[in-house]
Amino acid sequence: GHSEKIIFDFDDPMGGSTCVACGECVQACPTGALMEKSLVDERGVYANHPDREVDSVCPYCGVGCQLTYQIKDDRIVAVQGRDGPSNQNRLCVKGRFGFDYVHHGDRLAVPLIRKDGISKHDTAIDPGNPWTHFREATWEEALDRAAGGIARIRDQHGGGALAGFGSAKGSNEEAYLFQKLVRAGFGTNNVDHCTRLCHASSVAGLLEGVGSGAVSAPFMAVEDADCIVVIGANPTENHPVAATFFKQAVERGAKLIVMDPRGTTMMEYATHMLQFKPGRDVAMLNAILHTIVTEGLYDEQYVQANVDDFDKLVENVKDYSPEAMVELCGIPAEMLREVARVYARAEAAIIFWGMGVSQHIHGTDNTRCLIALALSTGQIGRPGTGLHPPRGQNNVQGASDAGLIPMFFPDYKPVEDAQTRAAYEAAWGVTLDPKRGLTVVEIMDAIHADRIRGMYIMGENPAMSDPDVQHAREALAKLEHLVVQDIFLTETAKYADVVLPASAWPEKDGTVTNTNRQVQIGRKALPLPGEARQDLDLIIELAKRLGLDWNYHHVSEVFTEMVSFMPSLANISWERLERESSVTYPVDGPDEPGHDIVFGNGFPTASGRGKFVPAKLVSPAEEPDAEYPMVLTTGRQLEHWHTGSMTRRASMLDDLEPEAVASLSARDVERLGLRSGEPVRVSTRRGTITLKIRIDAAIPPGLIFIPFAYAEAAANILTNPQLDPFGKIPEFKYCAARIEPAAALAEA
Ligand code: SF4
Repeated sequence: GHSEKIIFDFDDPMGGSTCVACGECVQACPTGALMEKSLVDERGVYANHPDREVDSVCPYCGVGCQLTYQIKDDRIVAVQGRDGPSNQNRLCVKGRFGFDYVHHGDRLAVPLIRKDGISKHDTAIDPGNPWTHFREATWEEALDRAAGGIARIRDQHGGGALAGFGSAKGSNEEAYLFQKLVRAGFGTNNVDHCTRLCHASSVAGLLEGVGSGAVSAPFMAVEDADCIVVIGANPTENHPVAATFFKQAVERGAKLIVMDPRGTTMMEYATHMLQFKPGRDVAMLNAILHTIVTEGLYDEQYVQANVDDFDKLVENVKDYSPEAMVELCGIPAEMLREVARVYARAEAAIIFWGMGVSQHIHGTDNTRCLIALALSTGQIGRPGTGLHPPRGQNNVQGASDAGLIPMFFPDYKPVEDAQTRAAYEAAWGVTLDPKRGLTVVEIMDAIHADRIRGMYIMGENPAMSDPDVQHAREALAKLEHLVVQDIFLTETAKYADVVLPASAWPEKDGTVTNTNRQVQIGRKALPLPGEARQDLDLIIELAKRLGLDWNYHHVSEVFTEMVSFMPSLANISWERLERESSVTYPVDGPDEPGHDIVFGNGFPTASGRGKFVPAKLVSPAEEPDAEYPMVLTTGRQLEHWHTGSMTRRASMLDDLEPEAVASLSARDVERLGLRSGEPVRVSTRRGTITLKIRIDAAIPPGLIFIPFAYAEAAANILTNPQLDPFGKIPEFKYCAARIEPAAALAEA
């Protein structure tokens, strides 16, 4: 009727309400009464009727929602969810409304070369207007300059003086060719990407414990679970569509155990909330394992048949009774015991963990504890059970599988293995580096130590994403030769000698692999802007100039070559993906569905058995003290993705979250004499940033949370670069910090 009106909460403005702006109501509305604003003009007239549609995949998170771009005059005007296996028509705010970054005026459309005499060090101190540091160039000049600098360093100093960062935002084919170029063309294994900064410790723990770095079950397995554990993860913000499946499972009656120092929206659905002390994961998890062992809750038959070294686990957890760990982890002993019983006795229980677990110097130990929980109770290999670290970027799983990491060829085959190397040398016609390469943070240190002189960076933004980012920026400025291939002049591109304008996801054909091991195809929906070129073409052009005889005519040829080296992708062809859009690996036949649940029949290790690896307590690398009395933790937001290069140029997302904020508890805000919205300076031993504060009821006293997407208040200026010794992941989730009112300091 005429008096009906849609309201948010208590008739609050939409942006100030609890609405998560996913737009499901718009997609579901059968009458057109609700419609995307982008489809109407300023008069409210339906002026932007799409003239064509293209099916693809969301470019943001590892959920891998399938979507349809609606296009008018070669511009995306709306996005609809498709019935993909991981989203069943759903999308979150990023997937549905975060699309207009592709049309942003900042898009790189012409190759750029640094002007003579413009120091990169000046750029580091005062970025000014970075566009003025470059001049436009022809493609011939830019590619010759890019490849010439790499060849000179390789020939004078050897391949070890070079490194490459590929991208988890690119396709599998780009990841495969990028690592092939660095290995075969540069002559080094110094190739890595942002997996090092998100789940490297999870992969290290999984490879060691169960012989595979991928998830054992998709997140949709919660439909069959009685008990769901979510630890160190914030799915409602980071994997929002996956979170909708979790909420539905709870409505059906599943128990949800949330473990996190920071309260998350998921806790509203939790049957058990364990808000433990930051950095004390191992104390809490070992206490739960202690209960499982001492109360006989483990599955003796399963352990005997499938897992080695149970005696080591038993011996290790002796000293970690819940009563002994209360003080350390802050969770009452009876709660720890109850959670152990609920998890172990469930018919089917599944564990999800995020970067709250992995981004610590004890990230691999945290993962070892979670693996021990699943293996000791047999909660793996059946419907509703398993181990699942949800992957961050849309293709971090696929890029890692394709070998975009310094220690492994595709399919996690060690680069030190002579037989594997010989096979690649024969196929690629080159001699390959027999030593494993350096990881992301190690590469920055090697630049400072004059061991690395040149880099090729495609689609990554280490000048925002690395820990202690000033150290990383100084390293980038120190490089003799830096080639950056991207769609925007990112904070990293500002240090480049040559900038190559490349393709955004809706402008290319290619495959990506989501967190569920689903290989999915994305289709070219838009023309490239200006003179920008396909990323794949640019990798090939550089390879040719470095002496490699590469002749690929279509992305499908790269896919087919990649699959020939990857038994894990057997029975997945380009044609099949074009036909089916999504195929889960592993898959037994060209017409059979893939296996959602793996490890039902042992593990892909040499012995076929899993392994318990005990974990001891390791304190965070930097504890609070009198000078820096609080703990800083960093992460993502619902609206902004990774370093913000895309989402902050997506107008609707930036409208919702336009500026950097530091979230604190109300008690800390009062204790410090501050007010919500007031500017503050947050400092650590590495630097200081200024931003506004926001009161967050879910944050415990003593903790500060800052998202890392904002260049003007880059959280990673503050973070600690200390590494987990196994996964080489930095401790983004814990360092000592101080907070002061910015206004008072300015007056002083
Ligand atoms: Fe995209 Fe992830 Fe949102 Fe799905 S949940 S729409 S994949 S950002």
